[in-house]
Amino acid sequence: MTEQPTTPRTAIVTGGARGIGAAVARRLSADGFAVAVLDLDESACATIVSEIEDAGGTGLAVGVDVSDEAAVQAAVERVAAELGAPTVLINNAGIIRDNMLFKMSVDDWDAVMNVHLRGSFLMTRAAQKHMIDAKWGRIVNLSSTSALGNRGQANYSAAKAGMQGFTKTLAIELGKFGVTANAIAPGFIATDMTRSTAERMGVSFETFIEAVAKDIPVGRAGQPDDIAATVAFLVREDASFVSGQVIYVAGGPKD
Ligand code: NAP
Repeated sequence: MTEQPTTPRTAIVTGGARGIGAAVARRLSADGFAVAVLDLDESACATIVSEIEDAGGTGLAVGVDVSDEAAVQAAVERVAAELGAPTVLINNAGIIRDNMLFKMSVDDWDAVMNVHLRGSFLMTRAAQKHMIDAKWGRIVNLSSTSALGNRGQANYSAAKAGMQGFTKTLAIELGKFGVTANAIAPGFIATDMTRSTAERMGVSFETFIEAVAKDIPVGRAGQPDDIAATVAFLVREDASFVSGQVIYVAGGPKD
């Protein structure tokens, strides 16, 4: 087995204040990474960082809008200065603005593109130089099963399919520097994001989860820790030959 480094590596998790991002931040800390938790609200990030520190880990809370070029640059520089050069980047921040195409506003389209695609581009561009300097890096981008098409999600589906193309290109460009890039495409995961979908549909979250689970081969909804476990594998030292892949984590196969 490849040896783990003696100096802890620094990871950035965007959208790390709750849901999947918070689970990923906790897991990476438990696995020995120093973890920068980035999200819109710095005080919400601080809550997760406190948990990490209470458990014996090291973290940093940084408030940033990932779609803001100057703010992203400053945030990544702050992480490098205060926590160490970031060589792991988890592009997880995301929003939904669902609507049928004929009712979808330009704002709904732009908002989703800006957070997922522009945000991941800006974060990755800012962080990659630290990975190249270190001749080692791990990038994990959050896609979705919606990338395969989903009614009412033309914006989100296009953004999540875009994340897959972005990931494959990163893998091609950065591979020779010891940097891997992979995407995780979750199916239904129980978080505030899916809770808001249940609310919009006028059903309780519990009823929604029960209905969704009936169509999932393993017979249950996904949890944020299911995604954190997959991230944990992809960032390992000995996952260095896995790059440019899209892993569907959906409790069953997807096309
Ligand atoms: P979530 O609970 O809504 O958490 C997303 C986090 O991202 C929130 O803390 C949010 O902050 C933050 N965020 C939004 N816009 C941001 C911005 N411009 N800059 C920085 N942070 C921002 O969502 P989740 O369910 O954990 O989803 C995490 C990722 O997995 C997303 O990319 C999502 O598309 C993807 N995913 C989720 C599912 C699922 O079933 N849950 C399935 C497939 C893929 P605020 O709270 O302040 O808005």
